Amino acid sequence: MNMAVSFQHLDQMQPWNDRLHLLECLSATPEAPDVMTFTFRSDRENWFRYLPGQFVTLELPTGPEPAMRTYTLSSSPSRPFSVAVTVKAQKDSVGTRWMFENLKPGMRIRAYGPVGDFSHVRHPGEKYLFLSAGSGITPMMSMTRYMADTAPLSDITFINCSRSPSDIIFRSELEYLARFMPSLDLGFIVEQCGRTDLWSGLKGRIDKAKIALLAHDFMERTIFCCGPEVFMESVRSMLEAHGFDMSRYHQESFLPAEAPTPLAEVSDDAPAEEGTTIRFSMAGKDAACASGQTILQAARAAGVRIGAACESGLCGTCRVMKLSGEVEMSHNGGILDDEIDEGYILACCSRPKTDVEIEA
Ligand SMILES: Cc1cc2nc3c(=O)[nH]c(=O)nc-3n(C[C@H](O)[C@H](O)[C@H](O)COP(=O)(O)OP(=O)(O)OC[C@H]3O[C@@H](n4cnc5c(N)ncnc54)[C@H](O)[C@@H]3O)c2cc1C
Repeated sequence: MNMAVSFQHLDQMQPWNDRLHLLECLSATPEAPDVMTFTFRSDRENWFRYLPGQFVTLELPTGPEPAMRTYTLSSSPSRPFSVAVTVKAQKDSVGTRWMFENLKPGMRIRAYGPVGDFSHVRHPGEKYLFLSAGSGITPMMSMTRYMADTAPLSDITFINCSRSPSDIIFRSELEYLARFMPSLDLGFIVEQCGRTDLWSGLKGRIDKAKIALLAHDFMERTIFCCGPEVFMESVRSMLEAHGFDMSRYHQESFLPAEAPTPLAEVSDDAPAEEGTTIRFSMAGKDAACASGQTILQAARAAGVRIGAACESGLCGTCRVMKLSGEVEMSHNGGILDDEIDEGYILACCSRPKTDVEIEA
């Protein structure tokens, strides 16, 4: 394990601009019960280029087939020499639990990304309301850390809901940031308190009264919301009922791959032709693709490995270069327009319209 400290200025290093990287674990830090932050550096001494709030997909060697798990970068791109993910182990967790038990400083894992649109950089506002629950705090923390470094006068009301006071992730760092960010207002809401917990804050579930108490001007703010589906649903319906301008409302779902967002139907006027052939140039294989089959399905049938996680056009892990031919792609935001212009497609949600050649 070579953890030697070497110094290089940013302009002596290359940016992290590929889609597949090896990350070397630098540290594993407990944050709260069942929550750890893992910090990484690039194995090639790249600096990290991403937007606050974006996510990566990690390839975790949990068994013969790796588990692909998507995590928001909780770190800030204003500190570009390392990245961090903050992960909460769910009950019966496979991937996150593997990280807790096995991922140690010096180990290397593969990462795909960064991707995602859930960032104040993409949806700027005059003032913000960050609403999070549980591990949904990670994108808000990345954005707040970024603003602390680059625009400390930013106006943010930061509301987090947790099970109990000891479950609040990043509480002490947020309180520290609030000391020099004069317009960072913190509001913590907990569901329950133990006998030994000193708690004078709000208790119970989030509702309109609590939001209005902590952010009296919430109707004027640009809102970012992330947490369990029921949490986001109650926030969304409360805002809609109050006539909030939903163009200023942005949310991120942490739903795992088992319950993907359904892809839009492939349009009838562009069906996959019968008998199309896919050439996988790197594997040197040709595969027949049945009507309606995706490139990912055809690759698997032909024994060609393309990394994939959400399989719903969201996480961007299965991005591949299309060298020739035409496809019908119906994604959920996991690929940027610039990338499509360059010739990239997502294999999980692309169906050939003609014979195609894929760099895989
Ligand atoms: C865009 C995006 C960003 C994400 N960012 C983060 C992050 O910053 N930190 C983080 O901890 N997680 C994040 N997630 C969730 C993460 O990808 C995994 O789904 C989650 O960590 C569960 O993986 P696991 O290996 O622990 O559990 P698994 O072995 O996959 O599942 C164990 C059990 O937990 C349930 N489960 C799985 N995922 C969730 C979930 N998200 N909520 C509730 N129950 C679940 C499963 O149905 C199963 O019963 C993000 C997901 C997405 C799509």
